[in-house]
Amino acid sequence: MSKELEQAKKYFPGGVNSPVRAFKSVGCEPIFIKSAYGSKVIDVDDNEYIDYVGTWGPAILGHAESSVIEAVRRTALDGLSFGAPTVAETELAELICEAFPVIEKMRFVSSGTEATMSAIRLARGFTNRPYIIKCDGAYHGHGDSLLVSAGSGVATFAIPGCPGIPDSIASNTLVVPFNNLEAVNEVFETHKNKIAAMIVEPVCGNMGVVNPIEGYLQGLRNLCDANGALLIFDEVMTGFRGCYGGVSKISNVKPDLTTLGKVVGGGMPLAVYGGRSEIMSMISPDGPVYQAGTLSGNPIAVAAGIATLKKLKANPTFYMKLLDNSQKLQQGLTKAANDVNLNVVCNRYGAMMTIFFNKEPVTDYETAKKSDTALFARWFKGMLERKIYLAPSQFEAIFISGAHTETDINRTITAAKEVFAML
Ligand SMILES: *Cc1c(COP(=O)(O)O)cnc(C)c1O
Repeated sequence: MSKELEQAKKYFPGGVNSPVRAFKSVGCEPIFIKSAYGSKVIDVDDNEYIDYVGTWGPAILGHAESSVIEAVRRTALDGLSFGAPTVAETELAELICEAFPVIEKMRFVSSGTEATMSAIRLARGFTNRPYIIKCDGAYHGHGDSLLVSAGSGVATFAIPGCPGIPDSIASNTLVVPFNNLEAVNEVFETHKNKIAAMIVEPVCGNMGVVNPIEGYLQGLRNLCDANGALLIFDEVMTGFRGCYGGVSKISNVKPDLTTLGKVVGGGMPLAVYGGRSEIMSMISPDGPVYQAGTLSGNPIAVAAGIATLKKLKANPTFYMKLLDNSQKLQQGLTKAANDVNLNVVCNRYGAMMTIFFNKEPVTDYETAKKSDTALFARWFKGMLERKIYLAPSQFEAIFISGAHTETDINRTITAAKEVFAML
């Protein structure tokens, strides 16, 4: 065991502050990171890796992008937190509204978990109904009512339910398979006038990347409308990943509420929930649904968010290049696997993708779970040895950033060829 891990294990469960970082499911030790720039992360022994974790999504510009760092540095000199309104918050809100026209009014919080938890409370408060629907294997943070049948680390560690969540809370969450409208319809029929909202990752990222089938999102919109329930798009991962906006923009399906995180804070703790003004007006102090936060709208996080969105917006070819590189990687990896007769399915949305070691199309959690996780672990290790840092689980996405060059992509494909040939 590395001395860093040994020390960390004294103080933190598994030596980490978020479970998937422990690399447990791939059977190796976590690497301790010292610094990061552009498309690279550097460990404490000065090894440099091409990074596809991108701090789990936020680093869409690459690490330590100069305009973001400069904004953070400049803002920090004026004080780290005031617990009072700043004009910068309004500036970030304007940028967000422009990118997400479905968000008329919003609230800033500090993590995606807080955003989804608050959105659920709001939906229940607005509709005065108790139940919510979520998809099997979808991850919406670790709030009690959303950890039922959750993806991400919960999927990675095959945790059936989570001790500590009383049945009285879990039983208010109804779980349906992704991409199955009939199942949603049935749940609405069974629990007439009891369902406050359906929350969905409009493209799943936390069972690995799974795209919605044609008509699925519109079908959800129709079912929610027919049953007086709200539709919540959790775009914490998908926001700004496929375009300057979200899946709501690309699909033209309009959720009532949207949650954002990851990219929107540019690597600092910032997340958002927002949507129709009528609904958001239920939030305290305008309305009776309480939600608050000491560090909400933190000036440093807001500065990083503004700098990130401005940078994305300023470069009209940013997404073209990003999607082009992402597609090259997807095609390169798929071909490299097929060339050695390895069955893989590579699902992608924008600059996030998952290579499933799976024989059949992956369209929901059931099919995702049929992937060969032992083979994935060997692939992960082989890539890590070749200094390619991937997400350490079959059920996570890899993220491409604007800082990844064609050379990075080609090096990755070359490494993949070697590793696939050994599996
Ligand atoms: C990451 C993620 C969350 C949780 O965000 P945190 O900031 O980790 O609390 C919620 N929903 C989705 C879709 C995510 O990808």
